[in-house]
Amino acid sequence: MGAINNVGFIGIGNMGSRMAAHLVRAGYAVTVFDIAAERARLFASEHQARATDRLADLASSADAVVTMLPSGREVREAVLEMQGGALAQNLRPGSIVIDMSSAAPVGTRELGQVLAARGIGLVDAPVSGGIIGAEKGTLAIMIGGEPDTIATARPVLERMGNRLFEVGGLGCGHAMKCLNNFLAGASFAAASEAVRVGRKFGLDPAVMIDVINVSTGRSFASDVVMKEHVLNEKFATGFALGLLAKDVGIAADLAEQIDVHAPIGELIRDLFRDASDGVGGSEDHSRAATWWDRHGLRPAAE
Ligand code: NAD
Repeated sequence: MGAINNVGFIGIGNMGSRMAAHLVRAGYAVTVFDIAAERARLFASEHQARATDRLADLASSADAVVTMLPSGREVREAVLEMQGGALAQNLRPGSIVIDMSSAAPVGTRELGQVLAARGIGLVDAPVSGGIIGAEKGTLAIMIGGEPDTIATARPVLERMGNRLFEVGGLGCGHAMKCLNNFLAGASFAAASEAVRVGRKFGLDPAVMIDVINVSTGRSFASDVVMKEHVLNEKFATGFALGLLAKDVGIAADLAEQIDVHAPIGELIRDLFRDASDGVGGSEDHSRAATWWDRHGLRPAAE
């Protein structure tokens, strides 16, 4: 695997558009693709980048392809299925795919086997830090894969994040990410429940959150999601409810797949599935609190 000069970037959404911009600024020759073609075109018009609607075109010039897509299903589609499988067919042996989406780890290992048979490397490198971290290039990045493939990918990753963790073999980055988001989702659901109970008893939700944020109940959910987005009804974290519901589902599924009893994970998966179905998956994830306020924290099956 040689040094990376040309990068194909697939998925120019909330996160990908901001992350790809760092690669352009760092001097990489960047070609972007999005199923919503106008997003790729807009990005190219605003940055020194090229947009294409042909995956074969993107692949044939790429040393590395970064994917920043909703889930592993879309990654598999883009890499192996769309446009007759043009991406994998046109990537040259020795090139690498860097999947920065939050995807299911078992699927990532399966994709890695398919790509390895073609001489193409795969690294999973999901991120945490949201759109602000993406904008600033300060994402935390959890990297899984073979050491030599990670070494090739690292210079690209270092442009998008400043806290890089090599957490294990292929799929370990995705496992780490879904477990982190399980915790984020659980603390958000719990903070929302605490405020609901306190309000009914007569406490002021704003005072409650101020107390929690200097006390042991503090979390990202209380500090940022509840304080900045729920209580003032801004609902603009930039992280969709459907994506968080997907992540907590991946975490619960992972526990099942490897035979670990994880009852909290199952409950959190059901609560977010219910909220996502009720509110709409494309709405901001902070709106789950308003759904639970109205309907209670009830598992989806009820
Ligand atoms: P997004 O929905 O804003 O962007 C996804 C992009 O992928 C869209 O532009 C969409 O058109 C495109 N797309 C979908 N299917 C495609 C396909 N088959 N081929 C090409 N393009 C396709 O999502 P996002 O918020 O940028 O999140 C991307 C990933 O990052 C998700 O896995 C998410 O869970 C994760 N993530 C998001 C955040 C956040 O705060 N938004 C934080 C950390 C991780």
